[in-house]
Amino acid sequence: MMNDTGHFPALFGSMVFNEDTMKERLSPSCYKQWKQSVSDGTPLEISTANEIAEAMKQWAVEKGATHYTHWFQPMTGVTAEKHDSFIAPAEKGKIVLEFSGKELVRGEPDASSFPSGGLRATFEARGYTAWDPTSFAFIKEKSLCIPTIFCSYSGHALDKKTPLLRSMDAVSKQAVRILRLFGDETTNRVIAQVGAEQEYFLLDKKLYNQREDLIMAGRTLFGAKPPRGQELEDHYFGAIRPRVAAYMQDLDNELWKLGVLSKTKHNEVAPSQHEMAPIYSDANAACDQNQITMEIMKKVADRHGLVCLLHEKPFAGVNGSGKHDNWSLGTDTGRNLFKPGSTPRQNAQFLLFLTAFIKGVDEYQDMLRATVATPGNDHRLGAQEAPPAVVSIFLGDDLSAVVDSIINDTVMTNNGKRTLDIGVDVMPPIPQDNTDRNRTSPMAFTGNKFEFRMPGSSLSISGPNIVLNTMMAHELMLFADELEATGAHNGQADFDKRVAAIIKRELTAHRRIIFDGNGYDESWLAEAKRRGLSNLSTAVDALPAYIAEKNISLFTDHAIYTREEVHARYNIHVENYTATIEIEARTMIDMLRKEIMPAVSAYGTTLCEGLAKRKALGLPSKYEEEHARANCLLCDSLHDACAKLEKSLREVPADPEKAMLFCHNVIVPHMNECRSFADELETITERSAWPFPTYSDLLFSEG
Ligand code: ADP
Ligand code: MG
Repeated sequence: MMNDTGHFPALFGSMVFNEDTMKERLSPSCYKQWKQSVSDGTPLEISTANEIAEAMKQWAVEKGATHYTHWFQPMTGVTAEKHDSFIAPAEKGKIVLEFSGKELVRGEPDASSFPSGGLRATFEARGYTAWDPTSFAFIKEKSLCIPTIFCSYSGHALDKKTPLLRSMDAVSKQAVRILRLFGDETTNRVIAQVGAEQEYFLLDKKLYNQREDLIMAGRTLFGAKPPRGQELEDHYFGAIRPRVAAYMQDLDNELWKLGVLSKTKHNEVAPSQHEMAPIYSDANAACDQNQITMEIMKKVADRHGLVCLLHEKPFAGVNGSGKHDNWSLGTDTGRNLFKPGSTPRQNAQFLLFLTAFIKGVDEYQDMLRATVATPGNDHRLGAQEAPPAVVSIFLGDDLSAVVDSIINDTVMTNNGKRTLDIGVDVMPPIPQDNTDRNRTSPMAFTGNKFEFRMPGSSLSISGPNIVLNTMMAHELMLFADELEATGAHNGQADFDKRVAAIIKRELTAHRRIIFDGNGYDESWLAEAKRRGLSNLSTAVDALPAYIAEKNISLFTDHAIYTREEVHARYNIHVENYTATIEIEARTMIDMLRKEIMPAVSAYGTTLCEGLAKRKALGLPSKYEEEHARANCLLCDSLHDACAKLEKSLREVPADPEKAMLFCHNVIVPHMNECRSFADELETITERSAWPFPTYSDLLFSEG
């Protein structure tokens, strides 16, 4: 990992107050206390916090920082900051640079403007924030950013980090119980590991600025398909354009400084689309880093005269952008728990973890679907490019054959691949190399991790990972309870038998969630229905899973969310859906009334004048007549559709759930109608008469 100039090692993490820096700048006892706090959650003593704060401040000031901010992730998904200056007034007009342990571990932003889903009473406008000592502070634009958890005074989580940390603890606790049963006495913590691949579009800023929809809604609300789309597989990235190459180099540099090990890539399917994949880390750091990445992507684009679009579906008919959430469990001793092992017992353990995962995804498929439910992602899921809205697991031929042989008590034949003999006679051998790839599966096993492909590109990965961790914690807890109750443990034949029995029982019960075929195939939807899998095709269908009793129990049983917190999150998603659709609808009306309709009407007038002149001369005028008629008819239809949209916008019910349904059932279809007329008009309107850049202009503009 080094860039052309070879300065990578010095650059990497240079703006992060990371472990090495702490070791260098803290006293040994202070450093030890911090390490302790990270590994088992022991609260920091104020003297330790003071020493860390002082060292952090000195380091930050040396790096040119003037301010500090508690950097946190409110429930809306974007990050929030409140900047305070280090500078404090001292006697005789002098100033001192101040930053103490108290400010480090607790800040008090005015939280009243952040959505709380009804959690915070209005009189209680303040929440409290506390440094998350498992996440490193960093410097961004002369501000020391302190990753922070954010709670209300009543202790309710108001952010996306607190429940993620809770879920990581929950899965660690239960996984360690299982490992102990298998005779592992050295692992103290199991870590949820995540690598989030990020897709995005780049557009020319000048063109972007001419499109109100891109500015207001982050996606195009109008636009006829260009003659050249992604049909051409060998699109123009064959030779990446210099401006994009410069952007990527700059982006990598900025991300490396912030400790994000990114590898930018250029070969996404759609024109103008790109991807960045970081090296995986623990789920908490991965979530922080993904938030930072999205922010830096936008900032760096600006410097290059470009705009970075993170919307799930900026262009209709062109592939949208996703965020692949690669997830696995690893021990603090460096072992990956989803990697088939080299001994029979390790393989029994691998199969038990795999079974827990399969059971979890089957039982909480609706909840996983709900974590990726946003109005933007509705344009993507099931659109022949992203996974379908049905949740299923891809295991690959080899591992599926193992699963089937366990269920059917058949002997696995070695089909020429390298297999491992598990030795425990009730279990089949496990192929070691699972390199099968299936791009259409929402949840694919890729050798030693699962790749969840449903999240949209703008989503915080916190939500999906909270559910992955918690469902896994839950299933492992049930297995550990069952095994511990028998008193059997590692090394006894009875233990092997009981483990095998659980694996067989649960794989049989949850086989239906495994699907290795083509997820884009129409027949899969019918098959999924036959299997009883849920098909929650839109956000409106999916969001109520948040408040399904079984899902609330999952969260409350493992102390991830309280019942109130679950409801608060549900409310925020519901309100966000309505707000998004309303903004899009209003933007659409604005563009119709102020840009599209005046332009096509004027153009129609020109056509009619031309027609009248030809007719007056008694000349043939078939083309002029048909063209003018088509324009006039479409203008009328568009006018009617726009009026209907305006009317429906005035009728949105006050009740949040009813409002969401109304938006989905009434407003979205009206918007689609407006768009279809406008797009048709675009195709019969002279280029220079169209009021803003077209898809062709936008998609082939990066260069
Ligand atoms: P692909 O494009 O084939 O999906 P990439 O190499 O682009 O693969 O991305 C894979 C992502 O998965 C990277 O972010 C990588 O760091 C991450 N990853 C690799 N191993 C693990 C693991 N054990 N747990 C979680 N994430 C992982
Ligand atoms: Mg991927």
